[in-house]
Amino acid sequence: MARERLTCIVCGRKFPRGQGIVLNIGGVELDFHSKRCALKFLTSLLEHLDQDQLRRAVNETVREFEEARRLREEEKRKTII
Ligand SMILES: [Zn+2]
Repeated sequence: MARERLTCIVCGRKFPRGQGIVLNIGGVELDFHSKRCALKFLTSLLEHLDQDQLRRAVNETVREFEEARRLREEEKRKTII
């Protein structure tokens, strides 16, 4: 059975499923052959979103990562003691 080939939507390069990056955003499957192409697409996608909503979402996401970082730091400290 031939492995399914996907096409990078940014540069058009073909690659086998299992390689590259496959994202599901808004119910749409997006295939990228590399992180670089995915980032290019996502950066462009953000420009199409409502900027006020986007700002809120950015702040929430930053907080989420900060919280996760804080918890990891705490865990590390506990293991040292
Ligand atoms: Zn690509």
